[in-house]
Amino acid sequence: CGIVGYVGGRPALGIVMDGLRRLEYRGYDSAGVAVVAADEVLTEKRAGKLAILEKALAEGDIAGIAQGTTGIGHTRWATHGGPTDRNAHPHLARDGRVAVIHNGIIENFAKLRAELEADGVEFTSETDTECVAHLLAREMIGDGAQALAEGMRRVCRLLQGAFTLLAVSADAPGAVVGARRNSPLVVGRGEGENFLASDVSAFIEHTREAVELGQDQVVLITADGIEITDFDGEPATGRDFHIDWDA
Ligand code: GLU
Repeated sequence: CGIVGYVGGRPALGIVMDGLRRLEYRGYDSAGVAVVAADEVLTEKRAGKLAILEKALAEGDIAGIAQGTTGIGHTRWATHGGPTDRNAHPHLARDGRVAVIHNGIIENFAKLRAELEADGVEFTSETDTECVAHLLAREMIGDGAQALAEGMRRVCRLLQGAFTLLAVSADAPGAVVGARRNSPLVVGRGEGENFLASDVSAFIEHTREAVELGQDQVVLITADGIEITDFDGEPATGRDFHIDWDA
């Protein structure tokens, strides 16, 4: 339902949670975050309102989660699998080293899930989204930001339906990858930091320079870079715009 991503020099958790709060008016049934810190992806997710996630974050006090400077956050409107903690996003794979959030519906998820299960992959949720995490774990060959982006492109070529996807990996610190088809994704261009969101209102207090991604595009953001390609890896461009209204 709502999607936020951040990479830069500031702690990501607060920025991501603020962004989710700004998307709150859309309605949702669950929320979750993933932060890359040191050599790990740290996550917390809960069914219910953001306040419940906030409480879990405060009580869990996960070491390092408040300091990591790369992060993603999601509010869910359940379509596949009920609104439970397990079905909340992010969904993890690669022993927790890859985290994925998703808006929309993966129409061919049943077939993809059956193929993955036949290969021995164990699922922990009933969502259509979880197959994306396992596919990304499989298709991300090696480490680093480019491997993460190339993995996402390979996954997108396997997917049918509507999706805005964001992913982070402990094997690609300092990067967030996003992708979209039939569902919105906007980049916020900052100074030494960049943002991704399903709606500009999530980052408007930080920057008013934005890039709207086109259909079937993948974007890799780092603190200093925004790289856009199509699903085949050919360089692509989004639509640059300046936000001159109050959101
Ligand atoms: N289809 C996904 C799910 O049910 C994503 C729903 C959404 O857009 O929030 O988990």
